[in-house]
Amino acid sequence: MDITSLADLKAADLPHATCESIGLGIKVSEDTAENRAIAKKMVSEIDEYLQSFTVGPTCPACDTELAGLCGSFTWGLASGEGLCGRCGYPVRGHHPLPGFTNILQEPLPYHPSVLKSVPEPESEPV
Ligand SMILES: [Zn+2]
Repeated sequence: MDITSLADLKAADLPHATCESIGLGIKVSEDTAENRAIAKKMVSEIDEYLQSFTVGPTCPACDTELAGLCGSFTWGLASGEGLCGRCGYPVRGHHPLPGFTNILQEPLPYHPSVLKSVPEPESEPV
């Protein structure tokens, strides 16, 4: 399987992650206009944060599965940050979402539009 270059990924216009695309629903405890407005604002703020990421669960550069038991996601040195274990594409594993005290744990690849470079992949193991 080939590894797509960052230039090709930027040209591909990949979708940005959103609350909907990662399956994050905001439910209101009581259905009032005020609560719906609060939920809408939270979704808007989280969607804005998620603009820096593209939809998983596969690596956009090499199409390797990132999440799950056999996923290739590998933690990096910086807190919450990691990479695709096959090609080194940058992935964030922990997300401090606006309005939440808990950290969302989901390996989301960075959107190509926010990257200046990606590590050169190491040669494939023989
Ligand atoms: Zn990869």
